[in-house]
Amino acid sequence: MSISEITLAEAHEKLAKKEISSVELTKACLEKIKKANSDLNAFVSVNEESALEQAKEADEKISDGRAGVLTGVVCGLKDVFCEKGVETTACSNILKGFKPPYDATSVAKLREAGVVFVGHTNTDEFTMGASTENSAFGVTKNLWDKKRVAGGSSGGSAVAVSANMCTFAMGTDTGGSIRQPASFCGCTGLKVTYGRVSRSGVMPMASSLDTIGPLAKTCEDAAHILEIIAGRDKEDSTTPEVKAGDYVKNLNKDLKGMTIGVPKEYFIEGIGDEVEKAVRTGVKEFEKMGVRVKEISLPHTKYAVPVYYIIAPSEISANMSRYDGVRFGPAAEKADSLQDFYMKNRSHGFGDEVKRRIMIGTYALSSGYYDAYYLKAQKVRTLIKQDFEKAFKEVDLILAPTSPTTAFDIGENSEDPLKMYLSDIFTVASSLAGLCGVSVPCGFDKNKLPVGLQIIGPQFGEAKILNAGHQYQCATRWHIEKS
Ligand code: GLN
Repeated sequence: MSISEITLAEAHEKLAKKEISSVELTKACLEKIKKANSDLNAFVSVNEESALEQAKEADEKISDGRAGVLTGVVCGLKDVFCEKGVETTACSNILKGFKPPYDATSVAKLREAGVVFVGHTNTDEFTMGASTENSAFGVTKNLWDKKRVAGGSSGGSAVAVSANMCTFAMGTDTGGSIRQPASFCGCTGLKVTYGRVSRSGVMPMASSLDTIGPLAKTCEDAAHILEIIAGRDKEDSTTPEVKAGDYVKNLNKDLKGMTIGVPKEYFIEGIGDEVEKAVRTGVKEFEKMGVRVKEISLPHTKYAVPVYYIIAPSEISANMSRYDGVRFGPAAEKADSLQDFYMKNRSHGFGDEVKRRIMIGTYALSSGYYDAYYLKAQKVRTLIKQDFEKAFKEVDLILAPTSPTTAFDIGENSEDPLKMYLSDIFTVASSLAGLCGVSVPCGFDKNKLPVGLQIIGPQFGEAKILNAGHQYQCATRWHIEKS
């Protein structure tokens, strides 16, 4: 077994006892990347030299007794996290060559904690997608079956973690982009409450929905990472003064006496039989732990996808307007007018999905249509949020499938955006409500493709969902199965 396979918690123990060094761990990850990345395309850039330097520094910190739990472990960053001096492109041609002059807040916090950054991971362009097929760097392949997608948009991060190319990776989740690829690749993906982790320095997609979180090997690892990155940041006014919880201390709490809701709207036509079976078996596992399970109803669930696909593109159309070739990335060398200059930069720089969403969003926000689309969608969003508020009066947590299917074939949905959008059907509602959720592996289908179980919690309920996920991972072995 390569040491790159160990969890963050195990790595910390071994590093602290000097059984391994950070340089050794980093080399083991680099070795995996060298072996597998040309095939899987999880990383779009790798910084070997700088990673080894950071690892050396981490080893010094450990020797001097200045180390924390994350010191010396290896991290991949989704290519939307600004890393000072390192090309960060959101996997878009429009940002080719862009080197941010600063670290995103979450990156700075992880750096301060002694994390080793090994490279940037693949994503759908500006995180728009559910399969990593919309990347300017080409698709990421699923490690369980290379004909299939890794999910998206954090597909690169999910494969990087599951294929042991790094100890953990950072992702973003606007409508499912951490949870769905974690489910497709068999790792643990944490979507935090809106505002729990600073978005500063992370390229935005839809600002009222975007969240930052880890893809990790276990819930225990995710808890350690969250303790470092959570909290108020003056650079992001949507991070409230809500104290970051004792996520790690909480992990071992007994679940006995807890009530968990299973929403009937999440077991609908279109969900794969084997997905349903694995998720239902997961629910039974919680019952064995002394949890009371109750069927609940979230009646506005059916509106979540249409509402999301009005609100997200509207905010996308506003956020994408900053990319015009003037401030960031390459610019057209010749242009006849300012208009022509913008046209050239944006039509060459953006891919089809980004353009599609800019058009939908601009239309939905335009005068005369705003009330009919954006405003209406916001109103229905409130109803969706109220469904959850009502449910959380009766239950502590909600269990559901993460995605209706396991990983689909590369190319299977890429020509049909509506079909692709349906792969978010179980993740967008909780995103619209600003809740937290974690996807944990809960079984396989007959093709040995991983299935994800989603544990949804109330706002700022991260300690609860990680506790539940950890207890589940102590009782089951799905998260340690190998491809
Ligand atoms: N798949 C969803 C979309 O395409 C979610 C993306 C995300 O969470 N960044 O919008």
